[in-house]
Amino acid sequence: MPTPVGHILAGVAVGQAANWNRPLLANPWRDMALFAVISVLGDLDFLPGILAGQHDLYHHGVTHSLGAAVAMGLAMAMIGWPRGRAWRWGLTGFLVYFAHAALDAVGQDTSFPYGVPLWWPLSDEYVIADWAFFLDVRRTPFGWPVLRHNLVAVALEIAVLGPPAALIAWRRLRRARRQ
Ligand SMILES: [Zn+2]
Repeated sequence: MPTPVGHILAGVAVGQAANWNRPLLANPWRDMALFAVISVLGDLDFLPGILAGQHDLYHHGVTHSLGAAVAMGLAMAMIGWPRGRAWRWGLTGFLVYFAHAALDAVGQDTSFPYGVPLWWPLSDEYVIADWAFFLDVRRTPFGWPVLRHNLVAVALEIAVLGPPAALIAWRRLRRARRQ
């Protein structure tokens, strides 16, 4: 599973691409903040485990699935409805949320169950790509090797996902200034 940095970059890139010509909110910066928040919501499944004393007890469950992404899309569509833009809001919510689960499926996973139930409820199978190349996040044992591993993980995510996110942001900000 990639770090929150990777998830935010992927979510911001996908959300902006889906709203290429016109921001969802008042301006592209607010859009990016919204996409960043949605992009990490899937990992809230850490919370019940933390409360139970084992942080990944419920991690990589159905919050990392097609079904949860559809639910997010519907919730966002209801927010967009009064603005007359239910489709745009719904599609954006779905894509940004699903990007999180999809990214986890192409990230290494060293704790069982490996991968995410990407296609739930259509399938309960856990999905992880053979070629998963984003690194996992390590927590123990606390020390330099673990910290170095996580820093390399973040650097790899910035190298791969940073350019597309930044390029689309630059293009949208320039366009917004002209309007
Ligand atoms: Zn995740």
